[in-house]
Amino acid sequence: MNNQRILKPLYQLTNHQSKSKFTPLLPFNTKGDRQGSHVTAAYLSRRCLSNHGICINDSVVATRGITKKITNSRKSTTMPANGELDNFYEVLEEPASYSDAVASSSDDEQVVCSKNEETTKKISQYTAKATFESMPNRRDHEDFIRKAVEIILKDAVFEGTNRKNPVLNFVNPEELESLINFKLKSTPGSHEELLGIVKDTIQYSVKTGHPYFVNQLFSSLDPYGLIGQWLTDSLNPTVYTYEVSPVFTLMEETVLKEMRQIVGFKNGDGDGIFCPGGSMANGYAISCARYKFMPEIKQKGLHALPRLVLFTSRDAHYSIKKLSSFLGIGTDNVYAINTDEKGKMDMKHLEEEVERSIKEGGAPFMVSATSGTTVIGAFDPLEKIHEICQKYGMWMHVDAAWGGGALMSKKHRYLLKGIEKADSVTWNPHKLLTAPQQCSTLLLKQDGILSAMNSANATYLFQKDKFYDTKYDIGDKHIQCGRRPDVIKFWFMWKAKGTSGFEQHIDKVFENAKFFTDTIREREGFEMVIPEPECTNICFWYVPPSLRNRKSDPDYQDKLHKVAPKIKEKMMREGTMMVTYQPLRETPNFFRIVFQSSGLNKSDMTYLIEEFERLGRDL
Ligand SMILES: *Cc1c(COP(=O)(O)O)cnc(C)c1O
Repeated sequence: MNNQRILKPLYQLTNHQSKSKFTPLLPFNTKGDRQGSHVTAAYLSRRCLSNHGICINDSVVATRGITKKITNSRKSTTMPANGELDNFYEVLEEPASYSDAVASSSDDEQVVCSKNEETTKKISQYTAKATFESMPNRRDHEDFIRKAVEIILKDAVFEGTNRKNPVLNFVNPEELESLINFKLKSTPGSHEELLGIVKDTIQYSVKTGHPYFVNQLFSSLDPYGLIGQWLTDSLNPTVYTYEVSPVFTLMEETVLKEMRQIVGFKNGDGDGIFCPGGSMANGYAISCARYKFMPEIKQKGLHALPRLVLFTSRDAHYSIKKLSSFLGIGTDNVYAINTDEKGKMDMKHLEEEVERSIKEGGAPFMVSATSGTTVIGAFDPLEKIHEICQKYGMWMHVDAAWGGGALMSKKHRYLLKGIEKADSVTWNPHKLLTAPQQCSTLLLKQDGILSAMNSANATYLFQKDKFYDTKYDIGDKHIQCGRRPDVIKFWFMWKAKGTSGFEQHIDKVFENAKFFTDTIREREGFEMVIPEPECTNICFWYVPPSLRNRKSDPDYQDKLHKVAPKIKEKMMREGTMMVTYQPLRETPNFFRIVFQSSGLNKSDMTYLIEEFERLGRDL
């Protein structure tokens, strides 16, 4: 919009000329010392996003609240009382304050003026409370949505990933209760209040897209993933039938086939589903293995079964135990297999345990191998596991929730050698490939099991007499009914970057991880937990100067155990980075730093290393 057109009425208003041309919506309260009061003009441009003042067409909305806002602003400019239009021009792109201006003597009162009635009405509707109807319309919601999106873009997307800003602003729960009003009320809120909530939510949330959020097996804020996510939400679909989700159904089929091809299943044949997380994907895998072992389970339930025994590494993700319990197999029947010094499943022990289960009268039915263990990042020997599975007729599952992304790289896919021999694979694109949460898949070599196992043929959803080919109604092979199409964001990222983009991404994060490892190996105070990490999660101790060369002290392990939690507290309070720690069996607490954002560079690796030194120096 033309600047002149915004400014003119304000200018006239401030000089108390032609006031009659304006229609005050609320009383134009001029009580108080107008000459001396430093009341403010709004942020005078179409971009104006202040919670306190807006400009729409030829109108000005201002409240005294802006004063604070503007005096707090670094860019604040004081305008002369008789501000010339030229001067206004200069501050157009910035918050401005000037004296003797649009004035209101109370903090809450608003001054709303417009050249014509129509605009005034628009403003009055804008400033109104939220509507109860669950449908957007331009009049009530366009400005609100734009402003919210602008806040999200600025505060979360760009500022939230800026190295200059903190990863988080940690406050204790009681304090947070006082900073954000969590209570719900019976009356509607105003849009202004809601925009404030958007801001506060961002302010006190952890910025997981920040380069120094290296705390978990997910991180990053992929720009294409974000748009895919927003696209999903703008259409609010659920993928059970082609009828209701035609585009997403075909996207899912395409992506799952492509992933099976990358895994190495012949021609990309087989089956697959998107799951709400890798834990659920593992649960589906256990269920498939069990169904394959004894299909009567579907009708007869657990009574039909002998005591089933599942084998997985002691370092496997906890979801294997959890879902085994959930499915009625029981955690006692999940046999934990020893790992070697690299964290890989011990083949000799595996075979011994299988033999033991048979001797006990159990029925070994499945091995869940892990490609990229959660803490150490170890890759189990898949080819050998396959041989054992063949020998005893067991289902071979590979939990590649974490390490699956490495399949995208010619250089690193050797880590999962033999994965094509698996019956099922869990692969989370929301981990190494940085698709937004959540995006998890289960890929199966054999088609039809999921459908046979899970279908209920509800006639109110999956009518067989539809006018199109109902094989595209894929929902019945899931146990969920309503289901978010997690495929879009990943498909969209893939479209954007190409498979080669994913490959570059993987190569870069592995390179970063190697650089980090090589650097700390040479650095005083750092000690590796696993000398040669295979994936991009790196486990190490930071030994503060006070503990160095004290290894023989009887309380050394206890003291070392306390270091990581202290450093963690400091980093959280300062917000300079976020890295997790944990013990592992008898091993004292150590850090696990995780790299999966290709937005990080070698200089970031150096920053992170120096941060440990800074935070741990005086302990
Ligand atoms: C993260 C992880 C899972 C669980 O995935 P979610 O999506 O968090 O449920 C399963 N297995 C392994 C090896 C993992 O690292």
